[in-house]
Amino acid sequence: MEKDNEKRENGKNPNKKLRFLIDILLWTLMIAIIIGIGVYIYTTQKKNHSEENILSYTDLVKEVDAGNVEKIEMTVGSTTLKVKLKDVEEEKTAIIPSTQVFMELVQQKTLEGSPINLEQKSRSILSQVPSYIVSLLPTAIMLALFIMIFKMQGIGEKGEVYDDTERKVKVSFDDIAGLDEEKEELKEIVDFLKKPKRFTEMGAKIPKGVLLYGKPGTGKTLIAKAIAGEANVPFISMSGSEFIEMFAGLGASRVRKLFEKARKLSPCIVFIDEIDAIGSRRTSNSGAETENNQTLNQLLVEMDGFSSEETIIVLAATNRPEMLDKALLRPGRFDRQITIPVPDLNGREAILEIHSKDKKLADDVFLKNIAEDTAGFTGAELANILNEAAIIATRKEHEAITNKDLDEAVKKVTVGLEKTSRKISEKDKKLTAYHEAGHAIVSQFLPTQTAVKEVSIIPRGMAGGYTMYKSDEDKYYISKTEMEEKLIALLGGRAAEKLILNDISTGASNDIEVATKIAKDMITVYGMSDVIGPISLKDNDGQLEYQMFGDDMQDAIGKEVKKLIDIAYQNAQEILKQNIDILHAIASELMAKEKINEEEFNKFFN
Ligand code: ATP
Repeated sequence: MEKDNEKRENGKNPNKKLRFLIDILLWTLMIAIIIGIGVYIYTTQKKNHSEENILSYTDLVKEVDAGNVEKIEMTVGSTTLKVKLKDVEEEKTAIIPSTQVFMELVQQKTLEGSPINLEQKSRSILSQVPSYIVSLLPTAIMLALFIMIFKMQGIGEKGEVYDDTERKVKVSFDDIAGLDEEKEELKEIVDFLKKPKRFTEMGAKIPKGVLLYGKPGTGKTLIAKAIAGEANVPFISMSGSEFIEMFAGLGASRVRKLFEKARKLSPCIVFIDEIDAIGSRRTSNSGAETENNQTLNQLLVEMDGFSSEETIIVLAATNRPEMLDKALLRPGRFDRQITIPVPDLNGREAILEIHSKDKKLADDVFLKNIAEDTAGFTGAELANILNEAAIIATRKEHEAITNKDLDEAVKKVTVGLEKTSRKISEKDKKLTAYHEAGHAIVSQFLPTQTAVKEVSIIPRGMAGGYTMYKSDEDKYYISKTEMEEKLIALLGGRAAEKLILNDISTGASNDIEVATKIAKDMITVYGMSDVIGPISLKDNDGQLEYQMFGDDMQDAIGKEVKKLIDIAYQNAQEILKQNIDILHAIASELMAKEKINEEEFNKFFN
């Protein structure tokens, strides 16, 4: 939600898309109405002209001679007559060869003394409307289609680039918590924007591009806006994915328009989010990729074309730096690269402080506790936790957000919403209880794994139950032993199922998936296998690359991954066998209480 607001503020106006959809709906409606009118006219005409209703001229003369005609209605200039016969309710339509021939018949009958009751009408404009509509129908449909295509192109041409851009950005560096070194580095960019002359007079070239690398939600957009806010310059933003168009050449045209606008607003910041969508390595393929290449080429051309009077700094963000085309990183383009890390403990606490400013917190709330429990969380996730806590507190009618509300919010964000109303069979309850107890007990005996915080068999999100561990301290490296023990903890659930129920279930699928990924990375990315050695076997796109080492390497990788998993599974079973009484006791406690906390769990080990 918060992020949505942010994006709206950026000028990435979602209303545009809504308006575009409404336009399409209106055009479709218009075409449908035109077709509807056409079909209506066609069917009524068809009805009037249906076989039994039509009189040929010979039939008409016969009916006149027989004195069966009550009245004839004739529109001036028309060769179609409306004929009312005596004793027949429905009017008939008579087609005459020409008005002259018919008028001769009328004269003849008058002379014979049996005049025809003829009513002559002048041609009204209204009566001609249906035939005009029918004749204009194809032209109208073509016109509507053309306008629709132009509108779509218009979105491509103008896009969201022009919206809101001149509005002053109100974000400043004070709104960004943590990231002190990064802010320090970026202050230089603020100086370039504020006093470009100072640098150019010295002969320095103003940098053109800064690339921000970091996981989604680490605050890259926030930083870009804060730079514009600090320098008091306009902020133009667009997302890489918005450049990707189904019409060839539109992506490049959007880039051109974006920079045209930037030149007019200089000095300014151009922010391109998700640059990997257009900036991924160029290929020689055709179709969509050629369109992508054109867009990227246009971006490079624009960046190369800045003149010394123009102070435009392009900030781009990505979380997949390895995907970027090398040409983007050359000097004179995005030659400055700044990594935006996931916040550490102090950073998390500071982010929580900033986002709790507009929230009502109970006096005993200690944000440091939440910061300790959320290692690895990004700024966006932390902001989300506070928002969820505020919603939970409101729903529970609390006076202010309590520690419990915050705890619940962390669980909701990490594992999902608690589903207390879901009916669970006794068999499934038992299976989940042993599975979760298995994880918890195994981790308790592994020195590198963090302490158990809560074990529950109440379903949450997609999980039937969960074991929550205390958060780890911030660390930059993970050792091989730690990874091996993680594998054991992950397989503790499956091991308990096998040991106690002598059967295995689908409940362990996620554990197995995570464990296999860790084992594969240990072998192919971190070089942790003695058999294979310290060799990186994955390319930049994460694809396995063993071909150059021959088929034996493929075999060896498979064997090494399997060995790691097998050993971990055996170890998990071993730990549980040795503590089988505790396993039964914790599983029964879980079946009775559904949830046990850290204190209750630790009692089983005293
Ligand atoms: P994405 O890659 O998904 O676009 P991003 O890195 O650009 O993500 P932002 O959109 O800048 O992330 O951050 C989302 C929200 O998270 C911000 O609007 C802000 O509320 C919060 N946030 C992130 N980092 C910080 C921080 N360091 N200080 C304060 N708030 C932060």
